[in-house]
Amino acid sequence: MTTQTRPIASIKLNRSWQLFRLIIPYIGLIVGMSTILSDRNLHLELLLPTYVFTAITGLGFTVGYHRLFAHRSFEAVKPVKICLAILGLMGAHLTISEYGGIHRAHHATSDRPGDPHSPRLAKGFWRGFWYSHTGWLFAADLDIEALKHKYASDLVKDRVISQLDKLHFLWVGLGLILPSLLGWVIFGNVEGAITGFFWWGLIRMFLQDQIEFCTRGLAHYWGDRDFETTDYSTNHPIALLSLGEWHNNHHAFPYSANQGLKPWQLDFNYFAIATLEKLGLVSNVKRVSLQEIKQKS
Ligand SMILES: [Zn+2]
Ligand SMILES: [Zn+2]
Repeated sequence: MTTQTRPIASIKLNRSWQLFRLIIPYIGLIVGMSTILSDRNLHLELLLPTYVFTAITGLGFTVGYHRLFAHRSFEAVKPVKICLAILGLMGAHLTISEYGGIHRAHHATSDRPGDPHSPRLAKGFWRGFWYSHTGWLFAADLDIEALKHKYASDLVKDRVISQLDKLHFLWVGLGLILPSLLGWVIFGNVEGAITGFFWWGLIRMFLQDQIEFCTRGLAHYWGDRDFETTDYSTNHPIALLSLGEWHNNHHAFPYSANQGLKPWQLDFNYFAIATLEKLGLVSNVKRVSLQEIKQKS
């Protein structure tokens, strides 16, 4: 990969935005936690909605960014496509087409040179984990624009996606403004708005980031390998937090909308897709057949 195809200023802007977007959830976590640790209450009124809102924007990422846009595991009617895209953009640190480029490069070169964020390309678990978690975003030879155009030109050319991607800053901002308004309405004062901003805005982003970032490292290191694949992917239990991203199953059958292939492998993301299918809002849902499972087992 080379950075020569993009102006230096543009790369710097992208890296500055990445840095800003990655740091603000940590600041939110510190401020938010300090407010509840002082009175030693569990504060379920903050924690439960934080989990629910993380799951909602998380679905935009796992169902939208990952299964719909990056893998084309199903097709969706335009309003559903737009909803999933906006929910995803509210929580994700990359745009849809940037993620599509990075993620398809990950599948094409998984755990081999060229994989943008494999933990296996660094020496030792902790170095690898750090690299796959955050370090890869600041690697000198990472060129997100080049990967986007090489692997995700269909997403770049998609008018709806490219228009929404251009407004990424706006959607991230909306992901902070809406929780603030909700806090203001629920608690009836400015303090409530600030609470909503930190807990349901920034801490929600923090939790979603960590689930995604940790999956990249843990699910290429520890866990069951139900299928022989050309990489180190595993079915790490962190899939329960990502609502069903069983990573070894996914690398074995990347096209499949269903990643939970054993009864105990809960896949709420697929449940959402199947529900939308029943409602006639999505179609051409790709599934793994029993024969395909037997062939790869
Ligand atoms: Zn992977
Ligand atoms: Zn994938």
